[in-house]
Amino acid sequence: RNNAEKFEFQAEVSRLMDIIINSLYSNKDIFLRELISNASDALDKIRFLSLTDKEVLGEGDTSKLEIQIKLDKEKKMLSLRDRGIGMTKEDLIKNLGTIAKSGTSAFVEKMQSTGDLNLIGQFGVGFYSVYLVADYVEVVSKHNDDKQYVWESKADGAFAISEDTWNEPLGRGTEIRLHLRDEAQEYLEESKLKELVKKYSEFINFPIYIWASKEVDVEVPADEDESSAEESSDGTSSEEGEDEAEKSEDEDTEKKPKKKTVKETTYEWERLNDVKAIWLRSPKDVTNEEYVKFYHSLTKDFSDEKPMAWSHFTAEGDVEFKAVLFVPPKAPHNLYQSYYNSNKSNLKLYVRRVFISDEFDELLPKFLSFLMGLVDSDSLPLNVSREMLQAHSSLKTIKKKLVRKALDMIRRIADEDPDEFSGKDEKDVEKSGDEDEKKGQYTKFWNEYGKSIKLGIIEDATNRNRLAKLLRFESTKSDGKLTSLDQYISRMKSGQKDIFYITGISKEQLEKSPFLERLKKKNYEVIFFTDPVDEYLMQYLMDYEGKQFQNVSKDGLKIGKDSKSKELKDSFKELTKWWKGTLKTEDVHEVKISDRLDNTPCVVVTSKFGWSANMERLMQAQTL
Ligand code: ADP
Ligand code: MG
Repeated sequence: RNNAEKFEFQAEVSRLMDIIINSLYSNKDIFLRELISNASDALDKIRFLSLTDKEVLGEGDTSKLEIQIKLDKEKKMLSLRDRGIGMTKEDLIKNLGTIAKSGTSAFVEKMQSTGDLNLIGQFGVGFYSVYLVADYVEVVSKHNDDKQYVWESKADGAFAISEDTWNEPLGRGTEIRLHLRDEAQEYLEESKLKELVKKYSEFINFPIYIWASKEVDVEVPADEDESSAEESSDGTSSEEGEDEAEKSEDEDTEKKPKKKTVKETTYEWERLNDVKAIWLRSPKDVTNEEYVKFYHSLTKDFSDEKPMAWSHFTAEGDVEFKAVLFVPPKAPHNLYQSYYNSNKSNLKLYVRRVFISDEFDELLPKFLSFLMGLVDSDSLPLNVSREMLQAHSSLKTIKKKLVRKALDMIRRIADEDPDEFSGKDEKDVEKSGDEDEKKGQYTKFWNEYGKSIKLGIIEDATNRNRLAKLLRFESTKSDGKLTSLDQYISRMKSGQKDIFYITGISKEQLEKSPFLERLKKKNYEVIFFTDPVDEYLMQYLMDYEGKQFQNVSKDGLKIGKDSKSKELKDSFKELTKWWKGTLKTEDVHEVKISDRLDNTPCVVVTSKFGWSANMERLMQAQTL
């Protein structure tokens, strides 16, 4: 086209497209899911804008928030149209080719190693999956702020953009035209498309239509000659019944013009989905399979893995909302890397069924940012700016309730895990569902998200005790397995007041520690804390169920009463005095007779409120 401007794809994008176009990946259907998902996102965006400005929707058909699919067998073309926000020329250039999303190269790498395209949507490059089935793609788009443009590419490293002077005006929105490859002609079959749309649009909150063919009977005036010829034939007519009916009528009304019925193909928009959002349904009417499928569509993670747990509830009272929360099967790879500089929550916020944002930080505290899900509230105002919404007083209440529910859900993973100690009588614990599936789930949870629980203890004073219940660790008695504080307490010796722990680099190193000699000999259990964050954790976790925590490498350790201690203290008085005098005051605070050792003659102990040796090590590592 003579008004076309040419652009080159950004290098990573170009590589990605090469891989897609040459892929032998068998599940090519996924392109449709990605296109529907993009159309739905675009519709969400214009609907959101319309909350504060009705005008943006336009009039007539343009204002209909829907998705339409059309097939053209002759042109071998499949097209998908939405009346969403559309793209300006600049959007087309940026979004479809010149700017690689942060996930692009990560996805290219993953593709090269696994060949699995299923996760493409999660990496923010879903659009390019169209090249699984098409060798030429046109994107016609009209945004309220710009003219209508056409983006086109044959995936040969370049794309072109032209002002659209030849297509029908879209009003607003985007139409994607896929010129299908020879081996992808199955996507021109109406039945195939219907099946796929139904499968992929289960959780799309906008109506989807297909331009569907329909065989109808139409009455046409029968041609005189033809009908007389028919009558004179010896009854080979295909529609005996009708013929007979016609004949009997004929007998009565000879003069009436003759009519006959023929099959004709007509087209009409056929609705393919109904849009009752899953979270509006009662939890008891939603099956486990539906929750799993909803999780996949929500997170664009279409692997076979199921979420570890979910919670679907309605909050009533001053602030009303419905929510569905999920614990994903795996922590995202950058969960803790970005912990301190990002506040990104993975909850989508809806207000009265209208999608508002998926980057709404005030819904969950940082330590729960690994959760996925959505919140739909009737108590928030619809027609205000995002900033005003962000400052709305109801959010605090929503957040508080979400945290409670999230912690209950996590606790349930442990309670239902037959491998876990619940502290309750076996028969009081309701263990529902498939036991095998729940076995070892909490250990799995802990390995993925344990650090988040610890960060929660540090950050959330209100829920500290609830979170402490979720803690797991190894100890001198846990036999290489994970154990909990409740379990520790149930094993405490009579007369033992404190919970003993020690911090260090590894369990192996700690097991050799002289600090443990006496405790072990006297059969006391000591917790091993070997994660760097544990040092900080223990500065916040002072007590649990009325028991204090005692670092066994610090001053103040009391292990029962020793009748000889006073005697020993007296007889070694001269030695300790001499020792203290010999060492400088800056170096040691005190020299004491201790009852914590067994074979080792002496140890250096940290004062009760000072840094432990392990903390010194950590701080040093940080300043280096
Ligand atoms: P993602 O949807 O994860 O952002 P995609 O590769 O699917 O990644 O789409 C890239 C971008 O192209 C989208 O973020 C959006 O800005 C734009 N886009 C794609 N399809 C549409 C559409 N139908 N309407 C408006 N914008 C779209
Ligand atoms: Mg997308």
